[in-house]
Amino acid sequence: MINIDLHITYRCNLNCIHCSVSDLRNEDFIKLHYGAGIFRGKKPKEVIYKEEYILYLLSLLNDGKYKFRVNFSSNAGESTLIKNFVDIWNFISRKETVKSMTLTTNGRNLYKIIKHMDLTKLQNIIFSLDGCEEKINDTIRGPGSFNAVIRSIKAIQKIFDYQKNDNIFIQINYTLNKLNAFSLPFLPIILKYTHIPFTFNIIKIYLLEGNAAKNKKILNISFDEIKNSIKKFYNNLAEINVLRESKGLKPFKFRLEGFTAKEIFSIINNLHHLKCKYFLLGISRNQGTCGVVNKKRIFIDPYGYIFPCLQFTHEKVLNSFYEKYKRTEVPHISKISKIDDVIYSEFFRNARMWVNELYSFNGFPCAKCKFVKVCTICPVGVNIRGEIPNECRM
Ligand code: SF4
Ligand code: SF4
Repeated sequence: MINIDLHITYRCNLNCIHCSVSDLRNEDFIKLHYGAGIFRGKKPKEVIYKEEYILYLLSLLNDGKYKFRVNFSSNAGESTLIKNFVDIWNFISRKETVKSMTLTTNGRNLYKIIKHMDLTKLQNIIFSLDGCEEKINDTIRGPGSFNAVIRSIKAIQKIFDYQKNDNIFIQINYTLNKLNAFSLPFLPIILKYTHIPFTFNIIKIYLLEGNAAKNKKILNISFDEIKNSIKKFYNNLAEINVLRESKGLKPFKFRLEGFTAKEIFSIINNLHHLKCKYFLLGISRNQGTCGVVNKKRIFIDPYGYIFPCLQFTHEKVLNSFYEKYKRTEVPHISKISKIDDVIYSEFFRNARMWVNELYSFNGFPCAKCKFVKVCTICPVGVNIRGEIPNECRM
């Protein structure tokens, strides 16, 4: 199975104060960024996916050697903004080789288009909510965003209630920060009697780039505050789940994203009687599960370039990579006809070797950490971007 992370735009209809990729939407930045390195000569107007790239992608999905999971990812842009998003989604969904699909969305548009989407292969849908009341969510994400996401959740719930299907995996991403930590405990309460068994994904805020870096002062939250907020959240979740189960509804679950293994163990140690069935332990990203190393993931950017993962779209990462390995052509969707052309390209082979080397974490505490095999920490993040939290420096 190959996971395709498909980015069809860097545009977004929100400009959240904690967005860490907002710089990708700044025309000056894009001009600078895409005038450099492998992108020399590209024009900022090409930031929106071209229709012909979809035709190339559809043809790539005919590669009978592999099955595919296609993730419309919003790591760096909102897919539903694209005018013909529904057609693109439906064309991909009808491909025999595509076994499942995921949509990550800010929920701003979804309620308007969901009834036109072919949901047969939808496995997972991920929304963002950053406060359990309009005031706090909209302070962070922008006016109207709370009501829009609730409308989108209700729209999808209606469809799945009608189908009597509770196997859909719906995740709510909540990026924890100083402004919304007090509100997190209410998350299970506001959704308590929904039929869908939501998974609440509590994300550690990343303050090194974009709007988040600019607003660091008001967003920064201590690890003790994080632990406290999650403790109160868990107490409510456990209580609501008892109620849900007594009514025959599946329990809510939660997971933690962006936290290191040391942080996760510290957070869950602080919880009272944690029930394993309420917690999704996501700590399994190591050399075997890293998409660059295991050849099971590709990342397509809005320019049609295919990278081993999102990290390689960062200029700093690319430059460090090219210091070590010679500059080679990045596979482009218009120039390849099968998946193996990508996975066994020189660029991808070098990237695998490089990331494998970075997994030794030379000079970082991770090299001697007993949790390294189960930690989610990204070797590129630690080695090149210096993303190692204080809890792990000690
Ligand atoms: S390099 Fe990092 S972000 Fe990329 S797939 Fe591996 S662990 Fe994930
Ligand atoms: S020291 Fe490194 S490997 Fe250990 S928990 Fe922290 S980030 Fe993960």
